[in-house]
Order: sequence, then C-alpha cells, then structure tokens
Amino acid sequence: MGDATVNVVGRGPTGLFAAAFLRLRGYRVRVISRTAGSLALWGGELGFGSAGLAGSPGGMPPEVWLAAWSEGAEILLRAGVPVAETLPELALSTVTALGAPKPTFLTPLWQYAACEPEPACFVGLGGVGDAEPKAQSSRYAEATGRPSSYRQAPPPPGWRPGWGPLRFAEFFDTDLGMEWLLSAVAEAVGAVEEEVVLFPQVLGVERVMTALGELGRMLGRPAYEYPLLAPSIGGIRVERRLVGLLNGLGVPFYRAGVASVDGGGSVTAEDGRRFPGDATILATGGVLGGGFTVDLEGWITDPVTGESVGRVREARDLNLAGYRRVDLRGDATLLAVGSQVGGWNPDRDHNGGAMILGTVHQAIAALEAR
Ligand SMILES: Cc1cc2nc3c(=O)[nH]c(=O)nc-3n(C[C@H](O)[C@H](O)[C@H](O)COP(=O)(O)OP(=O)(O)OC[C@H]3O[C@@H](n4cnc5c(N)ncnc54)[C@H](O)[C@@H]3O)c2cc1C
Repeated sequence: MGDATVNVVGRGPTGLFAAAFLRLRGYRVRVISRTAGSLALWGGELGFGSAGLAGSPGGMPPEVWLAAWSEGAEILLRAGVPVAETLPELALSTVTALGAPKPTFLTPLWQYAACEPEPACFVGLGGVGDAEPKAQSSRYAEATGRPSSYRQAPPPPGWRPGWGPLRFAEFFDTDLGMEWLLSAVAEAVGAVEEEVVLFPQVLGVERVMTALGELGRMLGRPAYEYPLLAPSIGGIRVERRLVGLLNGLGVPFYRAGVASVDGGGSVTAEDGRRFPGDATILATGGVLGGGFTVDLEGWITDPVTGESVGRVREARDLNLAGYRRVDLRGDATLLAVGSQVGGWNPDRDHNGGAMILGTVHQAIAALEAR
C-alpha cells in the first residue's frame, strides 16, 4: 500500500498527524477539510489521561502504544516543535490554565512539564485575559504541595483593550516586543526564590524558544509558559508547524465538505468535486467523534457515510455512540481516527493525545496489512 493515495478528511490534530504518519511512509496524501480543526483551542500538549503504561488508554497493548508515541515525537521534532519526553512509566505533568497539574506526554518544550512539580513563580502580563497568577499560584501550591508565588508585569507599550492572545504573541515576535520582554517584564519579575518561572502562553508564535531562553538567562532559572484558556497560542504554534511540515513534504490541502466516500476510498465533496483515492481516513472529530449530527429526537447520523448510528436519550449515551472500530468496513478502505472509537472519552479522561496517536497508529497498521 506504500505508494497508494490516501484522502485524509479533517485538519485537526488527528488529521495532521495522520497525514504526516502516512506521507513519511511514502503514501501520496491529500488533506480535505471543511474548516480548521480544534488545535487552536488547546495548549498543544498531548494528553495521556491515566498516568503511565499501566493505564494505557483504549486497551492498546503497551508496545503498540509506545510505537505510536515515538512516531508522534519524531513528527513533532521534524515539524520544529521541541518536545519534553519522558519514560512512559513516569508521569509527566503540565500545568493547566487553572494552575492544576495534568498528566501529559509529548509536551512542547515551551510549556512547563515535570515528573515532580517544582516550586514555581507564576507571572501575569497586564492585558492578558485569563492569566490570573495569584489564583493559579495558590491552586498550584494546593495541588502540588510545593511553594509558589506570583508577580504581575505591566501591559506592553501600544497595548489596547481587546488584544487577544494572538495579538500578544505577534507583538513578542517583533524586536520591540522581545526588547520590552527582556527589560520591563524581567525587571517586574525581579528576584525569584522558586526554581522555575512561568509566563502566560503568549511569548511569540515563532520566537518563543528564544524568548524563554533569554528570560531564563536573565532570571537565573528556567522559564516556561503555562497555557491559557482557548484560543491557545500553544496549539496555534503546533498547527502552523505541522502544516508547514506537510507543505514541505508536498501534501496538498483542500477546503471542502465531504459528502460521501465510495467503496474504493474515493471522496465526493458537497460541491461535487471528486477526490480519487485508494483509502480514506476520517479524522472528522466533533463532540461525538466523526462529526456526527444529532437531531432533536436524539437520532445520531454520520454525515459522511449517511449511516444512522443510534439514539441518545441521556447525556451518558453520548459516550457509547462513537464508531466501534478504526477500520469501518473491515477492508481498510475507510478508516476512522481520533475520537471516533467508542469508549474513548477525552473530555472525561483527558486522554485526547493518546487517543489521537493510538488510533492513527491502528489505522496505518490496517492499511499496511491490506
Ligand atoms: C477546548 C479544548 C481543549 C483541549 N485540550 C486538549 C489538551 O490539552 N490535550 C489534548 O491532548 N487534547 C485536548 N483537546 C483535544 C480533544 O479532546 C480531541 O482530542 C480533539 O479535539 C480531536 O481532534 P480531531 O483532530 O480528532 O478533531 P477536530 O480538531 O475536531 O477536527 C475535525 C476536522 O474535521 C473536519 N470535518 C468534519 N466533518 C467534515 C466533513 N464532512 N468534511 C470535511 N471536513 C470535515 C473539520 O472541518 C475539522 O478540520 C482539547 C479540545 C478542546 C475542544
């Protein structure tokens, strides 16, 4: 199957990873999506859920899970996302937007992650909404039992109410922004007792690692970011870098809603365009996975295959409604990856990242076996 053409539907994290896994194995790949995916909504780290391999999510054998994990790390590194990896038996934790620790793996190096949370100083920047260093610091101290403090820096020159995280990040990508960060902000932070200093996740889209390196040098201790509520610059950075990698590998992107997938794996778009292919991977995400629609009576329909999937009568039924299998037809022409597999519930179990890489890995194994 290595020289086959595969349509990847969806450009959220799952579609982008699937496209990269496939392209790097020599497949011809195109990405078709109706809209952007969810990466801009999250911090960019891949959630694992229950810590360590003992809690390997989705019932995947540990060796399969590990293979998916290393391949994902390689792709991120090739895309220009430096990642903090750790041994799977150790639980790596990041800080959430509320200051609580959360188990992850493959966390971008710009974001604070540690196996043992360290004493930390949280910095707020004037005008950055959702950065509440006082509350985050006390939540962190309470959750980790480690000392924590906070500082507040002023808003940057030229700041206007209404600047969102992306506007801040674009400012820090300029020489003026970097200069101000290393003078006014570093001065406002001053002497710090804690072992690490954490800044809100807005320190540039492109130049973040330079900013953190310089800040760390000036403050005499490592500097990292903590994520904010959505939209999140961490995810935007990951998305831009993955799309850049795929562009460089010659993967074309098409904007289209997919209406149907034929028996052989070719796709027909809602506007009538046809995308021939030997297989199609649905990375269509959505609350229920697979971009399902739910009508007022509770009937669930898969908009791509037109199949009725079942009916929800109460909220807990939603978790049962996903696709049951990665290989939907059993012949590797139509594969579902991401949140489509029934039983995975990233909102409840915080295992979105494990689910993404795990299902992509399973889909590719099915294609390779064809
Ligand atoms: C606010 C928020 C925070 C999160 N935080 C984290 C986190 O910190 N760590 C973590 O690991 N996970 C996190 N998640 C991830 C989440 O739990 C899922 O893992 C993730 O959203 C799934 O991504 P996906 O690529 O499968 O789907 P999505 O990102 O939803 O992408 C779906 C794609 O499919 C396309 N599509 C759908 N139907 C069609 C069609 N018919 N035709 C063409 N295109 C179609 C859409 O346009 C889109 O491009 C977060 C999610 C959200 C919303």
